[in-house]
Formats: sequence, C-alpha cells, structure tokens
Amino acid sequence: MGWEKRVRRVVPYVPGEQPKESGIIKLNTNENPYPPSGAVRIAMDAINEGKLRLYPDPAASELVGAIAEVYGLSEKEVFVGVGSDDVLAMAFMTFFHSGEPILFPDITYSFYDVWADLLRIPYEKQPLDGDFHIDPEDYKKPNGGIVFPNPNAPTGAFLPLQYVEEIVAANPDSVVIVDEAYVDFGGESALPLIRKYDNLMIAQTFSKSRSLAGLRIGFAMGNEKLIAYLNDVKYSFNSYTMNRPAIALASAAVRDEGHFEECCRKIIATREKAQEDFRTLGFRLEDSCANFVFVTHPDADAETIFNYLKSRKIYVRWFNKPRIRNYLRITIGTDGEMEHLMTVLAECPGIAERLSGREQDGIRTE
Ligand code: PMP
Repeated sequence: MGWEKRVRRVVPYVPGEQPKESGIIKLNTNENPYPPSGAVRIAMDAINEGKLRLYPDPAASELVGAIAEVYGLSEKEVFVGVGSDDVLAMAFMTFFHSGEPILFPDITYSFYDVWADLLRIPYEKQPLDGDFHIDPEDYKKPNGGIVFPNPNAPTGAFLPLQYVEEIVAANPDSVVIVDEAYVDFGGESALPLIRKYDNLMIAQTFSKSRSLAGLRIGFAMGNEKLIAYLNDVKYSFNSYTMNRPAIALASAAVRDEGHFEECCRKIIATREKAQEDFRTLGFRLEDSCANFVFVTHPDADAETIFNYLKSRKIYVRWFNKPRIRNYLRITIGTDGEMEHLMTVLAECPGIAERLSGREQDGIRTE
C-alpha cells in the first residue's frame, strides 16, 4: 500500500440527495419546479445523432455567441463550462494562484473550501454577522482572491451592488468572483461592473432559473483578458468540456427570454407567499432573494423536522455544520408543492404543539 502516500487525498463535496423513489416532493437541491423552454424540445428533436461521432466545437461558439447576444457582451467576454461548478473550479485554478489566502464567507456554498483544499489554495473564512450578512470591510485585507455567492447560499441574503463594487474596487490586485447562481430570483447582477473593473468575474448557471440542472451548463462573464486566461487553463485540462447536445439545447434555452422571465416571476411569487406561511407556522427567517428559503423554528430542531419531512416523502436540505445546524434550506417548488409542505409541517412534532397552544390561547383570551 506504499502508493497511498502519493495519493492526492481530499474530503469531497457532498451534494444533496438525488432520491430514486417516486412520489416524493424534492425541495433539497434548488432545482426549478417548471420544465425548461419549449425551444429545448425542438432543439432536441433537431439533434443530428450522426454528428455525435465527431468531437464538439472546443470553443462552444454557438452557446458563447447566444449568451453574449442575450447579455449584450462580446464573445470574448464569455466562458462556458459543465455547470457553474466546472466554471468555478476552473476559475479557482486560474485566478487563485498566489500563495496568499483567498477569502470567502464562513457560511456559504460548501464547494469553495473543497476546491481550495483540492488545489492546495490557502483560505480564510470571513464570519457573516449575526443576521448572516456579509460585511464588506472583511474583504479589505491582503488576499489571494475573493469569492462569494450573491445572493448567498444557503442563506438567500443579497448583498446590494454598492457593497459588491466596494469589495471589487478595494482589491485591484486580486480577482473577485461573484457567484450569481441565484441572481435571477430577485438579486441584481454585477454584470455592468465588468467593463469598469478588470478583476471581476461573474459566474452564472442554467441549472436554476433556466430549469436545466440535468444538462450541466454554467458560464462566466468578465473582461477579455480574464476570460482568455480561463480558456488557457480549460484547454490545458480538457478541450472538449461541452458536448454537442448540451451546446445545442442550452443555446436554444438562453434565447427564450420570455419563458425565463415568466418562470422566475412565478417562483418569486410562490416564495413571497411561502415566506408568509412559514412565519405563520412559527418559523424564523430573513427575506430570501433566491429560489430557496433558510428557516429555523424555536420549538422544533432542524434535524427532527428534516427527518420528519423525509418520512412524509418531502426532501429538504439540512447542513450538519456549526452555526447553521438548526436551520433548513428549502427550495421553492410549485404552489401546490408548497401548500402540501405547509400542511405537513403543521403536523410536525413541536410545530403542531405550538399551533394548538396558540389556538388555545386564542380561546382563553376571547
Ligand atoms: N454556486 C452555488 C452558490 C450553488 O448553490 C450551486 C448549486 N449547487 C452552484 C454554484 C453550482 O451549480 P451548477 O453546477 O449546477 O451550475
């Protein structure tokens, strides 16, 4: 077993469960409850399987061009990858290469420290405040790079653009990556800033607002030089990251702006109603700008609720981690799914007693 000492050992990221059973309500991995654009079906029918014997376009120009057009950019300002996970991993490899610690929040997307460990990048976590907000002052110290999601995950908290700009402006000597996986659900993109600051990279994904988690499409936007460096690393690792069907289907999806806007509007409306319903059930939560909410309950611990919901075939996400062990991250589903969730939660041990106590109080005071 001598070879084992030469192994690159890592503690891997653990994605949310993808249960095989049927009849469940799946609110654990922030997928979109609605199908993708109808244009995807048409593009799927048009796929020429005869061409699958040929390698795809290494530059994925069709998709890069479609994204550039929709976002008003030049093709040289866009990079695409196999989900934003791939884009972010490439970006860590490309931009975080100084030996100085990179900075990210202590409560955030749990892939960041995994990539940093994998790539041997030193890092320093910056604690969020008591309400789980980022303090821009924490990002004005020497560093080898900065990354944070906006809105943040799993909290759903949005950092207003003026603060994002403050962080980018304070760090001209390192790259700042803003991970906008959830920005379409009520945040504001920092995209206009990429022409003002050459150290800003924005990552987005088709997995959430475009209902294409199964296709694995993500993209980065930034100034030409920054995107060129990303491409150099990608071509040194795997030239053909994007397969032919993915390029064709994602290009069709991104052009259908009407479907995209309608889907986001529906999810935002469902989220606003769900937030009220959670509060009625006694949950505590901050307003979310994402397609999920982050909730805690004073009378029922999160692990108990998590297991109870699972026993009722509803999957949500519980992170067994410091500071957030008593919280659940719950994806916004359809109106019907959220109504069912609320009915089931009202019967959950702890929550049910609180509700019946409140009713009795009501009777006594009448
Ligand atoms: N960033 C954040 C903050 C996320 O929550 C996710 C979803 N797990 C991703 C990036 C990656 O998403 P994808 O690879 O599906 O684009």
